Amino acid sequence: MGVKQPKLDSKQRNRKNAPLLIDYGVLSNISWPGSISAKGLIASGKTSETILNDAVARLNEFYVPVSPTARTRCIDGRHDPEINEENLGAQVPGGAPGAALAYRLGVDKDDLTRGTFLVDAEEMISRYLRLGFAPGGHRDEHSVGKLLAGCGAIDGMDVILATMMRPDLVDDHKRVVKELLGADFDRDAYLRNMGAATVLNGRSAEYFKGREDIIDILEKRVKNSIATLKGDHQECIVAVNCVPGTTLSSNRLSDTFNIQTFGYDIWRSQQMALKIMPRPDQAEDRKRFIMARVMSTVATLMALTDGTQRFVLRMPNK
Ligand SMILES: [Zn+2]
Repeated sequence: MGVKQPKLDSKQRNRKNAPLLIDYGVLSNISWPGSISAKGLIASGKTSETILNDAVARLNEFYVPVSPTARTRCIDGRHDPEINEENLGAQVPGGAPGAALAYRLGVDKDDLTRGTFLVDAEEMISRYLRLGFAPGGHRDEHSVGKLLAGCGAIDGMDVILATMMRPDLVDDHKRVVKELLGADFDRDAYLRNMGAATVLNGRSAEYFKGREDIIDILEKRVKNSIATLKGDHQECIVAVNCVPGTTLSSNRLSDTFNIQTFGYDIWRSQQMALKIMPRPDQAEDRKRFIMARVMSTVATLMALTDGTQRFVLRMPNK
């Protein structure tokens, strides 16, 4: 006879099946070059450790099913006044155009000494449309009328690529990439992408030229694909979500705690890899694409933040 299990009420059962929240503490104990600082926001009294702990503990309450027809969102935690809470798209850095860099680094068989981000991003948007995904991106209220996208992941892409290879940061970069990918971390793919990044960085000015135009192009091609985010960056949490089909209700979370969260739905990058490269003989390219997407995400966080944000991984509770 087995040991009799205690009966659980529905609340306890929900809690039992709730996704795991793995709290890694702060992103880093070395100083990253970006300016967004959770430590700074706490020091200035804009938030507190108590609020931050509460938000981290209750994070699962702010995840909802993703809407398959909703536009892809950026990881940016700022307020989107137009967003429909019932219709939230997955969050990835730079929205749909952001995937173009990962494709270029990890997969593209073209000569790395040719091509531009703008052409790569347009092709990525076309792939999204052919596959029935709703591409999306954003501006911010500060970028209107300027030669800026208003999306840190697009505007800072040259800096992000350069940050990824900074000798003083490369060990820390690899550590965080490993934390995101766990057993899927592949050293050969990591080093191969790093090599591609080095070649591309050598002609960074040429490759990234005019990249901010991608927001206008996307807006013209796909109606209602561009959001205009409001306010200043106040991200105190980085939440990486591995639970397929779910995404963070970022407005609701920031309204509740008056802090913001960078939310990355890593499951969407894995799904996109399978959609873009579905053939069994493309397994290697899928692995490289996911690795490149995660590598560029971590580099984006390094270029945007000082590393003092709380880092939480949300995983299926199997
Ligand atoms: Zn963005």
